[in-house]
Amino acid sequence: MCADRSVQALIRPDIQALAAYPVPDAAGMVKLDAMENPYPLPEALRDGWASVLAGVAVNRYPDSRSPEVKERLRRVMRVPQGCDILLGNGSDELIQMICLSIVRSGRGVMALEPGFVMYSMLAKVTGLDYQGVALQADFSLDLPGTLAALQTYNPAVLFLAQPNNPTGNLFPVEHVRALVDSAPGLVVIDEAYMPFCDSDYLGLTGDYEHVLVMRTFSKVGLAGLRLGFLFGRSGWLDELDKVRLPYNINVLTQAGAAFALEHFDEFRSQAARIRADRQALATALQALPGLEVFQSDANFILVRTAREARTVFTGLTKKGVLIKCLDGTHPLLHSCLRITVGTSEENARCVSALRDVL
Ligand SMILES: *Cc1c(COP(=O)(O)O)cnc(C)c1O
Repeated sequence: MCADRSVQALIRPDIQALAAYPVPDAAGMVKLDAMENPYPLPEALRDGWASVLAGVAVNRYPDSRSPEVKERLRRVMRVPQGCDILLGNGSDELIQMICLSIVRSGRGVMALEPGFVMYSMLAKVTGLDYQGVALQADFSLDLPGTLAALQTYNPAVLFLAQPNNPTGNLFPVEHVRALVDSAPGLVVIDEAYMPFCDSDYLGLTGDYEHVLVMRTFSKVGLAGLRLGFLFGRSGWLDELDKVRLPYNINVLTQAGAAFALEHFDEFRSQAARIRADRQALATALQALPGLEVFQSDANFILVRTAREARTVFTGLTKKGVLIKCLDGTHPLLHSCLRITVGTSEENARCVSALRDVL
């Protein structure tokens, strides 16, 4: 017997064909590439946080059900009666659990594009068919086209980010309802950016049996904690829970999250500040020549440059400002850059660097 122990022989060809999720080195840079909250843990919370974490029984396995986090989430996020909660190691893990649990009958996953890359990435990694449906050139929803695609492809899951990443916009509520009404499968509404807008679809979990709503701590100042939330009927969540690794939420994350939820107003006020700074940043960007600025309901702003986007991006990097270049990632994103809203000082540095580079 001649065993082939090579990587090429043993790793799934479709995995070999994937590109790894790129994470650039940001040491020493003004970091405006990843939609993080720019503010550290508030000074007033540090002692309390430290003593809570110091008291955690790290010698024990976590409580797999994370009861304290869930109970506080119910209160803080006003989770409706009859709506259950599933926690993930970031919402990325929740997307993965959904993809792992879905039938292997060729129905697959659908999402709008340009959109969040993890939907297609995790669909592919878990061996599901993936179908992207294009937004219109101005990034609004093509309602007739999307409704037709739902009928044609019959996806088992539709992922819908509201606001959408990387475009930053919300679709009209009537359009979202129309998609939910005619979707032939599960609809997951991803509200990662809801702290920066007035939209809130949690109530849809009461109106529709086939709607789940996903949220995360990542954009409100706790990206390093890795905690995402999925809300919906227990019928769905009980099944998804079976593919969850038993201790996916570690003891420090559980304790930190419970503490953060007790002081959630601090994080909400940071989000409000970011929201106000988004407006100031948008105004400053609009005043720059050769820049089209798209309206945003999230903590980032999408822009299109008249000059080659890659050149602008590289120029900014040389000046110590890291943003995200989206040119080449989707045809509709030609010449586009995405700027995360930072502190007002960071935003000013970004605008000033752009003024030099454009
Ligand atoms: C950033 C983001 C998330 C968050 O993922 P985590 O794994 O919770 O950090 C989820 N959905 C969208 C659309 C995002 O942009």
